[in-house]
Amino acid sequence: MHYDIAIIGGGLTGVASARLAAERGFKTVHFAPTFAKDHRTSALMMPTVEFMLKTGLISDQSTLGTPLRKIRIIDTTNRILRAPEALFDSTEINIDAFGYNFANSDLLAAFSKSNAKRRTINSAVTRVLKTNMGYAISEESGKSITATMVVGADGKKSKIRDSLGFSSSTTAFNQSALVADVEFDRVELETSVEFHYENGPFTLVPAGGNKINLVWLDEHEALQRAAKLPADEFAKLLEEKSHRLFGHAKPLTKAFVFPLSNLAVPIVGKDGALLIGEAAHAFPPIGAQGLNLGLRDVEDFVAAIDQLTPGFSIIDSNRASKDYDKLRQADLRRTGGFVDGLFRSLLSDFLPAQGLRLGGVWALKNIAPLRKLAFRFGMGK
Ligand SMILES: Cc1cc2nc3c(=O)[nH]c(=O)nc-3n(C[C@H](O)[C@H](O)[C@H](O)COP(=O)(O)OP(=O)(O)OC[C@H]3O[C@@H](n4cnc5c(N)ncnc54)[C@H](O)[C@@H]3O)c2cc1C
Repeated sequence: MHYDIAIIGGGLTGVASARLAAERGFKTVHFAPTFAKDHRTSALMMPTVEFMLKTGLISDQSTLGTPLRKIRIIDTTNRILRAPEALFDSTEINIDAFGYNFANSDLLAAFSKSNAKRRTINSAVTRVLKTNMGYAISEESGKSITATMVVGADGKKSKIRDSLGFSSSTTAFNQSALVADVEFDRVELETSVEFHYENGPFTLVPAGGNKINLVWLDEHEALQRAAKLPADEFAKLLEEKSHRLFGHAKPLTKAFVFPLSNLAVPIVGKDGALLIGEAAHAFPPIGAQGLNLGLRDVEDFVAAIDQLTPGFSIIDSNRASKDYDKLRQADLRRTGGFVDGLFRSLLSDFLPAQGLRLGGVWALKNIAPLRKLAFRFGMGK
């Protein structure tokens, strides 16, 4: 069977892309093997929320997520130079909220709701080959299909990226991220509170009522040890790490640990093949950028296919993939550079880097135009 577009990967960016391609009338096939529940949550900034609403991926942000109206940063390092405490408030830039915090599993359920006709294959892709019809794509059972355009939304270890010759570079970190849902006696409503430690931030993201989503970056071994603690000891550790500001902690879920790495891909579209989401970029979850960037990939994918009509040719497909690459370049470089610089400065024991960070937080706290610029940047605009 021949398709206009084959999308590989059943994560958030793959499901969004498959749905939006099918809704535009393209003959779409989606390879989406079943995977274990995604326990991560995502803080998505207002421009991303607006994109999801405009395209119908979600219908109401406030029933699905929790607003993020303030961000508090507390430097708890023992370093010689410590940054001042800072509070950022969305009302300063005349917006109601910076964004919303969503459970990834809730977003996936919302993204999947569409009557647009597409074929979903619950199987992993084992091989993808360039042919004179576009691409031949084989799945685990040995069956194969062909498609004029292929979209790799198959995550950090993308087979599509590696087998189609997209170059990439990966840097692994000693740090991982631990996530868990926790209830405290009291919380700062609609405020994300970040405690900055030597090995990375310990962030409490509001999840409605007294519930928070913990995102804790630290050395991998330390997090593995914490994840294996009995619930009462884990709770005590969380109370200590949050300086007992919020009273008792009650873990509501198990803790899950995600190893962290950076992935940079210089070209993300060529020869009718496009890379989307973590197949095209990955970095540590600081500054809430990963899925925001992934959904901006989806937005540019939609802009690229909006120039095509169903049954498009290989020549048109090649052109659209190049256009997609052009559309993504500035955003990918800017966001990748921002997160990498921020992550390294947070972990640095090097005195000038500490000074730069301290100066940066001081400037953000005190210089209004710089604060506004930083707000716009953090929101991806
Ligand atoms: C702890 C943590 C917290 C985070 N918090 C935020 C946040 O607050 N805000 C934010 O914007 N981002 C955040 N992120 C990043 C965000 O979670 C990711 O960017 C996003 O979930 C990636 O989605 P994806 O669809 O690109 O990839 P994935 O979710 O990795 O999906 C890839 C899919 O491809 C499938 N697949 C793989 N190989 C094949 C194959 N051969 N054939 C078919 N399918 C295949 C896999 O099964 C998987 O379902 C966070 C990340 C972490 C680790």
